[in-house]
Amino acid sequence: MIIRKLKLKLNKTQEQQLDTWLWRLTGVYNWAIKKIENNAKNKIYFSKYDFQNLLAGHGKKIDIPSHAIQGVLIQAYTAWERCFKKMSRKPRLKGVRNKLNSIPFPDPIKPPEGNKISIPGMGKVRFHKQDIPEGAIKCGRIIKKPSGWYLCLWIDTVHTFPVKKTKDEVGIDPGFSTLLTLSNGEKIENPRELRKGAERLAQAQRAGDKKLVARLHERQANKRRDRNHKISRKIVENYKKIYYSKDNFSELARTHGKSVSEAGLGQLISTITYKGSACDREVIPVDSQFTTMTCSVCGSRTGPSDWDKLAVRQWNCACGAQHDRDINSARNVLLAGAGSALKATGKNRGN
Ligand SMILES: [Zn+2]
Repeated sequence: MIIRKLKLKLNKTQEQQLDTWLWRLTGVYNWAIKKIENNAKNKIYFSKYDFQNLLAGHGKKIDIPSHAIQGVLIQAYTAWERCFKKMSRKPRLKGVRNKLNSIPFPDPIKPPEGNKISIPGMGKVRFHKQDIPEGAIKCGRIIKKPSGWYLCLWIDTVHTFPVKKTKDEVGIDPGFSTLLTLSNGEKIENPRELRKGAERLAQAQRAGDKKLVARLHERQANKRRDRNHKISRKIVENYKKIYYSKDNFSELARTHGKSVSEAGLGQLISTITYKGSACDREVIPVDSQFTTMTCSVCGSRTGPSDWDKLAVRQWNCACGAQHDRDINSARNVLLAGAGSALKATGKNRGN
């Protein structure tokens, strides 16, 4: 499954129509959030199937494709489900500050003809020309961004590319000061553009320019996605088995909070995982306890022990080995991965 994002070329009427839909769907979403909350107080719970059909027949009344309404109901249902499972906080109502900015189309969409695509309830819409891979379009979502309207398409196809014939293995240590460190000593840094962008974003935030902040956020997200595609492709091309430390990663998220999600490490890892599985590579998460403090040469735990010592970049082991903290860690990930590969269940376990 791959995702393609088309930039739409809408006329005024179409834009107004979508704005109206967003506005009405905000009402639907909030109604659904409140309904689930109130019913839960009375111990009434719905199945996903029942809930998504709760407003069946209302589509005509509010002049929105009924599948889009279903999609929003599922979105609200999932938000509560995640909250009930303690995976996220209580869902917030949508409004001025927390805008609903997308319209789901949970059903298959016909492939475009030329640079026009049919959107349910809207008819043909033009988009900026772009190649779209062959394959059935499973579903779509219209998204309103600071730079305009987009249509995301989920296309059922496997995105493969030629890879090197190799049995090489690599350990990856995702980090914060260095984006990824490989067990061969290679360090992959954030591209300059992305760092520059972060500075500009911070400036705009200090200046309180909301519109600019929104635009820069969007641009940063695009750059990050682009970076993730390039890096993941390169790694998948060159290695047969790819081990990455997962604990490091969640630990980082805990200690650094937002800055890690900003770094897009999770997205990077999942991009490596799905590209790897498409190209018949094995991408395996490795339990990375002690990877930082263990000496990759002699195996004794003489290195920096916790996250307070994040500042320690270099250290020497009693055995005489001189270590770069991240490279040592990546080597340990490779060692742990290769050693425990039998224990890890199958290939391409999720992230
Ligand atoms: Zn040592």
